[in-house]
Amino acid sequence: MSPVLVQWNALAQIGLIGLVSIAAQRLLRRFLERDQYDYMKDILFVACWLVFGILSESPTIRLIVSAGTGACMIGICQRIFRNRDLRWAFLVLGAFIALFGPRIFFIGLPEGRYLYLSPLVSVIVTSLWMGLFPVLLQELDQVPGLAGFLLATCWSLILLVSFPATHSFSESFYLGVAALFFLGVFWSRHGQVFRRLGEPLAAMWGMLAASASTIGVSKGVAFTTLMILPIGLFALPIMEFSLRIVSRAFAVNPQAEVSLYRKLVDRGLDHPTAVRMVAGICSSLALSIALLQMDLYVPAAVTAAGAIPLFVLPALQKLFAPANRESGRNPSLWGIRIDNVSLNFAVSKVKSWITHGSRGYVIITPDALATLRSRYDGRYREVAREADLVLPDGMGLIQALKFLGSPVQQRIPGVEFVEQLCRLSASEQCPVYFLGAKEGVAKAAAEKLSAKYPGMVVAGTHHGYFRRDEEESLCREIRQAGTRILLVGLGVPQQELFIRRNLASLGHVVAMGVGGSFDVLSGRLRRAPVFMQKLGLEWLFRLCQEPKSRFRKDLGLFLFALLVLMKRLGLDRWNGAEAS
Ligand code: UDP
Repeated sequence: MSPVLVQWNALAQIGLIGLVSIAAQRLLRRFLERDQYDYMKDILFVACWLVFGILSESPTIRLIVSAGTGACMIGICQRIFRNRDLRWAFLVLGAFIALFGPRIFFIGLPEGRYLYLSPLVSVIVTSLWMGLFPVLLQELDQVPGLAGFLLATCWSLILLVSFPATHSFSESFYLGVAALFFLGVFWSRHGQVFRRLGEPLAAMWGMLAASASTIGVSKGVAFTTLMILPIGLFALPIMEFSLRIVSRAFAVNPQAEVSLYRKLVDRGLDHPTAVRMVAGICSSLALSIALLQMDLYVPAAVTAAGAIPLFVLPALQKLFAPANRESGRNPSLWGIRIDNVSLNFAVSKVKSWITHGSRGYVIITPDALATLRSRYDGRYREVAREADLVLPDGMGLIQALKFLGSPVQQRIPGVEFVEQLCRLSASEQCPVYFLGAKEGVAKAAAEKLSAKYPGMVVAGTHHGYFRRDEEESLCREIRQAGTRILLVGLGVPQQELFIRRNLASLGHVVAMGVGGSFDVLSGRLRRAPVFMQKLGLEWLFRLCQEPKSRFRKDLGLFLFALLVLMKRLGLDRWNGAEAS
């Protein structure tokens, strides 16, 4: 068989695997729920790599794909055994590859010299290299959406460097083609700026990239560049990682984190722009280091400097132009700013507050009626302005924002978010307190949710009909129970005002106003069928269940619709500054 034929075969196989998996994704999307579909997509992704490995004629590629799958398995074990540190397993896997597969034999020195490694040192260096990458990618993956962009750059560069420098279709070339193609096929998974890859996929990609960079294409530029390239790509995280360790050792507040991304977001930059900026800086660092290796000094300097106008300046411009910040990314209506984030991103944000945060955090989920309230209730508007996360609930609000030209990407109903927090409680072992609703309802909701999410920790429950002078002892009880997530169902605006009044005395909690969610979660009331939710008729369903208490409230919906229409026509004269 001529070499050219083999190459086309390999490329055709990659194409075919990709096409089959696109078809499979379309089919699965029809039958599965969102969560199930996401899991199936990840399984399909790993399967693509496995089929590629099995069909490949190269033993090296087969070994690398097996190592990637092995790293994925370790990632799954990390998820299952959360309280154990399993990172050593990547080193063991690395040692295995070093013994039976590609290995780092030499290290390039300046002026084209090489430092040759003895077999033992070579095995040790390769194991460390392989062991480090999955961990670094997992570290990067703490910021949702970052890994996908960096992987796209990493594999493009591997492809660019491996082929022209060696003038042959080496294994790293095929791995690069497969990686980029699969990345494209599953781009909705990897390029989704609000989702993390998760430990298994991050570890798998890390192992694949580390292995591809050690394939001995030839002694010379390509090899050294391939080795150096990922270091460039991860230069920023590596620096931050080291700085964090140093700051932990010396800082007065050991929780302090050095992360460019976190700093940007804390200063008010929106998540997608911060991700693009960090990914852009990492990518241009990597490219300029690669160019330096090829002795292309001027292009290297231009690439490094290019990051400033391309990525740094636009982000800074956004950061210092509050007017821009308000619009697109953060739609707002009558003083309520909505966080335009996905459910997944919101959950990962809460998770980071629970693990890294050091104060109380507030989440509110306004619907149309709550938004209407913010027109005339200054206290509620103030809570909404100060809230750490504002999630859009209710189809009425979603439709209104769309009608007014600032749509949000996803509706996040409070009742569904409560379920996600309970799931988080089970995985992170953080206690949840249920406060609100009639006697026994919060307890029943907690019991139902505990059965649904085994391992969830219930810090306590309390009804919502207490006197103001009982608040102090109630807050003490909540704090002493070690509560990390506090769900408050007292109705709008009582729940938000309760949280605001008592946040300081509640300790390190994430507090959320949940309205009538306990009534639904306990089974006391039924939630509207999905078609009614989608049509925006949830209010009608509730009106039928509780005509007395809902009738007056729901009249407000007509006023809301009317005012939104007036706003669209430019007839709404409401002015937040005057109102407050
Ligand atoms: N509630 C409470 N204490 C009060 C008033 C109300 O616990 O003093 C509870 C009530 O039992 C219900 C919830 O708060 O479970 C309010 O639900 P609703 O859906 O009416 O709230 P919304 O989000 O619409 O304001």
